[in-house]
Amino acid sequence: MNVISFYSDSLNLLIKKLLEKYKVKLSFIVKIKIKNNRCSARIWDNVNWDINKRCLNHIYENELCSKHFKKNNFGRINEMPDEKTMLIYYRKYNHNLDNELKLNNNYNFSKIFNLKLNSKNKKKININLGMSLKSVKNLDDIIFNENILNKKKLYEILKDKLSREHNVKHLSLAEHNTLTEKIENIVEKKNKINEQNYSLNNYTSKKDNQIINLIDKEFNYNSVIVGELYQEDCFILYNDNFKKVGYMRYWIDDDEEIPNEFKTKDNIVLDPQNNQKITEIDITPQGSLFLGILPNVYREYEYDEDLEFFRLTNCIQKE
Ligand SMILES: [Zn+2]
Repeated sequence: MNVISFYSDSLNLLIKKLLEKYKVKLSFIVKIKIKNNRCSARIWDNVNWDINKRCLNHIYENELCSKHFKKNNFGRINEMPDEKTMLIYYRKYNHNLDNELKLNNNYNFSKIFNLKLNSKNKKKININLGMSLKSVKNLDDIIFNENILNKKKLYEILKDKLSREHNVKHLSLAEHNTLTEKIENIVEKKNKINEQNYSLNNYTSKKDNQIINLIDKEFNYNSVIVGELYQEDCFILYNDNFKKVGYMRYWIDDDEEIPNEFKTKDNIVLDPQNNQKITEIDITPQGSLFLGILPNVYREYEYDEDLEFFRLTNCIQKE
């Protein structure tokens, strides 16, 4: 990660908060010192016989880690190693030793960066302060007008839109929570309105809808009506009194039970006969009470892993 961009992003947020809260004008320089914080002890290397091998630990005191602060047998990386205790052994294995030995005096580099921050002149400092979520006046309408009911997708779309059209570049945790809560409320509200409209309009027009017959393991039998309503990536299923009984969605093989050649890249299972995406029917426990069949996920096919083929289940019959 680019350390400087990390700091400028963090400071950017801080300034945004200060501006929101105190309505002050700010102009200052932040000095950032970046320092290598690594122990300077030279350590023994009987694998590669690298004479410049250095301890990887963080500094504890006096540019040494806690271990080497207590006891340091081989000196520091910028000090000449001892001939008798160290170099004599290394020479046996490494004939190029004297060329390789580097007494790096600048072993703990440090760099200083100056970040100029000035709320009056945003362009010069090349830091976009952005706006807060509060500055978006008609946020509820913006959410309502997006024609998507999948909350995760909706969040991503809104985040992008807020950034592009309303200059809200960062969402703080509180802003993230506000947006998520608003999305949830609005999606719930829209789902309710959709369902009410749907059941009112369709109560008498059952003929136009697709009807699927389901048979459970105990040979109970009933039919469901596939609604047009699309909610969270699935169609809603009704009984013939238009009570919600479950969902119809694509069969997604997340457990990796089915070989890849029978699936899309997104793990949606394909019909072996016609290569179309297969749907599955999920009858909820509450829905099963309306239907008199067992709550379950019903599928047209099941995959036999031993024989490696799709078998018809006969528990779904499409009219
Ligand atoms: Zn150390």
